[in-house]
Amino acid sequence: MKTNSVAIKGKDSCCGCGNCAISCPKNAVRMDLDGEGFEYPTVDEDLCVNCGKCIKVCPFELAKDEPCSNVISCYSGFYNTDKEHLSTSSGGVATAISKSFIKSGGIVYGVAYADDYKSIIVKRVDDVKDLPQLKGSKYAQAYKGDTYLAVKLDLAEGKKVLYIGLPCDVVALKKFIKEDHNLYTAELICSGITSPSMHRQFVEQIEKTTGKKITYFTYRNKDKGWHWPSIQAFSGGTLSYNKLLSASLAGYAFKTFMRYSCYNCQCKVYNKADLTLGDFWGLSKRDLRYNSNGVSAIIVHSEKGVSLMSSLDDFILHGATFEEIKNGNPRLYSCLAKPINREKFGNVFAERGLIAACDECRMWKDKIKDLVKELISIINL
Ligand SMILES: Cc1cc2nc3c(=O)[nH]c(=O)nc-3n(C[C@H](O)[C@H](O)[C@H](O)COP(=O)(O)OP(=O)(O)OC[C@H]3O[C@@H](n4cnc5c(N)ncnc54)[C@H](O)[C@@H]3O)c2cc1C
Repeated sequence: MKTNSVAIKGKDSCCGCGNCAISCPKNAVRMDLDGEGFEYPTVDEDLCVNCGKCIKVCPFELAKDEPCSNVISCYSGFYNTDKEHLSTSSGGVATAISKSFIKSGGIVYGVAYADDYKSIIVKRVDDVKDLPQLKGSKYAQAYKGDTYLAVKLDLAEGKKVLYIGLPCDVVALKKFIKEDHNLYTAELICSGITSPSMHRQFVEQIEKTTGKKITYFTYRNKDKGWHWPSIQAFSGGTLSYNKLLSASLAGYAFKTFMRYSCYNCQCKVYNKADLTLGDFWGLSKRDLRYNSNGVSAIIVHSEKGVSLMSSLDDFILHGATFEEIKNGNPRLYSCLAKPINREKFGNVFAERGLIAACDECRMWKDKIKDLVKELISIINL
């Protein structure tokens, strides 16, 4: 085995960004799906010349002595129009900055569902009318394809680019592109990401049960409130699925079946983005900055971050402290512990799929907890 290549890396130190494959001068690395549906690099030992380029661009190989970004300022905020606010995950700041960035002539890269809702992809958007596709958190890993090359091309043509993604996406992009005065980045606070195959099977199962194609899907409907996100699917104008995220099979998979590297994330404390965006979970309901439709937490790390926050339309901003954001949101700085049944779930999923994996791994305690949550959410309505 070539010792200076990504072939030596284990699954817990590969976030699947594909930097190694697009950077290899010999085309010796390709990304392949494993049985769980996550992408990992495969190195062709005959083509590999052991040059180490693939290791250098890997986001998990961070220069440990490189300083993290500063915290310049922090905010809480939300859209002041219900239409925008309710259709976003938290307070909608990702949509607000994207809109103002495009209006100022820029291009936004974010994550959308494919037309059939069965896959999740990184999408380039240069027209505000397409921005709704990026709204809402999608909890399976997005397919990137040639995205980083496309960003590079846009920058080479002198265009201004805003890339919004998970901490590993941003670190990977910055390792690939290096610094560019026209590149702006925002990372989401991240608990981890589940398998794209899980998402596909979940959507296909809904279609199988209803016998109808899905025409709209969201992981974060707020009808039951921001703290009680539901998965909703529509077929035509008809609601075909509606269940609390935490009580659904996809929600169980999201908790139990993350990418192995998410339990060992090296990127979240690295903070190389211009902004960090998340849910302001720690905010008390009695706080004047609270809004039951969702509140965004915003951490500004750079002057570019300051300029991204400077001209948001229809968006209410309040000052906040880093401690307030950090105290309510451990995922800002720490990883979730790997669940004891993670491996079992992955093995059963690879052999027999989502329903079998949930059947075998979900304990009666989990099922009772889910029922109680459903009941509480109904009472809360
Ligand atoms: C997998 C995942 C885990 C998260 N975990 C936490 C957490 O533990 N704590 C917390 O505070 N916040 C977490 N978030 C972030 C939170 O859910 C919101 O996405 C964030 O607060 C932005 O909300 P918004 O209302 O501004 O976004 P919106 O205005 O609704 O826009 C959504 C934005 O998220 C991006 N996006 C959606 N799905 C993905 C994806 N799969 N990969 C990369 N980018 C995506 C879109 O491109 C868009 O820019 C997580 C998000 C994801 C995708």
